[in-house]
Amino acid sequence: LRKIADQWLRDILALLHQRRSVTRGEITHSTGLNPASVSHSLRYLTQNGTILKVGELESNGGRRREVIKLNDDAAYFVAVDLEGSRIRFAFTNLVGGIRYRWEEDIESGAPLNVQRVIDGIQTVLRNLAPAQRTRLIAIGISCPGIINKAGQVTAFNLGWQKFPLLAELGKAFDTPLFLEQSHRTCISAERWLGCAQNSDNCVYIAVADGIGASIFVDGHPLVGRDQMAGELGHIVIDPTAPDRCNCGKHGCLESIASSPNIWRQYAEKTGRSVRHIAGSKVIEVFERARQKDPVALEVLDRAAEALGFALACLTNLMNPELIILGGDLIRGEDVFLHRIVKHLKLRAMLDSLEGLQVRITSLGPDIGIMGATSLAVQSSLLDSKLLRKICSPVLDSFDGNRRLNTHRKTRSRAKTAL
Ligand SMILES: [Zn+2]
Repeated sequence: LRKIADQWLRDILALLHQRRSVTRGEITHSTGLNPASVSHSLRYLTQNGTILKVGELESNGGRRREVIKLNDDAAYFVAVDLEGSRIRFAFTNLVGGIRYRWEEDIESGAPLNVQRVIDGIQTVLRNLAPAQRTRLIAIGISCPGIINKAGQVTAFNLGWQKFPLLAELGKAFDTPLFLEQSHRTCISAERWLGCAQNSDNCVYIAVADGIGASIFVDGHPLVGRDQMAGELGHIVIDPTAPDRCNCGKHGCLESIASSPNIWRQYAEKTGRSVRHIAGSKVIEVFERARQKDPVALEVLDRAAEALGFALACLTNLMNPELIILGGDLIRGEDVFLHRIVKHLKLRAMLDSLEGLQVRITSLGPDIGIMGATSLAVQSSLLDSKLLRKICSPVLDSFDGNRRLNTHRKTRSRAKTAL
């Protein structure tokens, strides 16, 4: 048997991960591998059940071309999405399919006890059937705030200041862990399964408890020296504004346009209690705006102006073809989006606006889970040991599926108990 280089497998699986189904010709063309290496690798991956032939396409010349895809169940992942007010856990497969999921509310801004994250992951692991356990590759975690190279997290919304998340989780689990900033996992999900699949110059912006951007320029993520690129929320929009930000400055975008701050302004103007400034309250402001409540409209206009200004700066700087908006903003698309776009158009350079699309994410609230999975898949492919585990023979698939099905029932009962 000729030796198959890790890099061949990596290139082929990365392409299948990104495009989901491809022909042999497309693999040769896109990876730049020679046809013999491709044939050899595809035979190996097919025999082991890592990839499947799913049909044939008729080409122009009448030749049939086989279409190849990943075997959904060749690898499993645990995906965790830590949001400012919620934690989501999921058990996912190689193509981003969610086998089961659940979420827990947490108190925004109060220090999050890491034991809750450990318990959640342990619950997933405890409930795995043997067939699933053997093919569990890694745990992917999507986390807000700033993550330094040592895996320490600073996130105001989780009450963490250089919290050693990676080290704490590493003590609790043998399974490899991959941690990434949530805006980056979200854009990774958009490029994998969402509306940025064909876009090399795109920006994902989440407006939720905080505001952050993840930027792709010419097909590459913008990361920065200390992985802090995209801290859009702390751009000072108006230094004279009374709005004080979590970071200590005044007039940051986040202090005017994040979900808790939209609610805060509405509450202040209507004499409501501002003590409880949970991000989810922003939905109430959207609802009031729908009923033409002038205070709600005034607050949303101010937030939209600040966001439009920030998007215009990004547009002029980065020249993207696509801006995707996510977070709580999904719930207010009808009353909020056109206001933001109006201000973006007023401020950005006309030439940069040409052909620019502004869209709301189509992936819904599970975007962080999908992003954490995408991160885990991509990172695992780069690790030779994990790569070979993904490519190892998928055995006993019938029995495995049967157990999975039985298991799912058990799981849904457990879900109500959680
Ligand atoms: Zn700030």
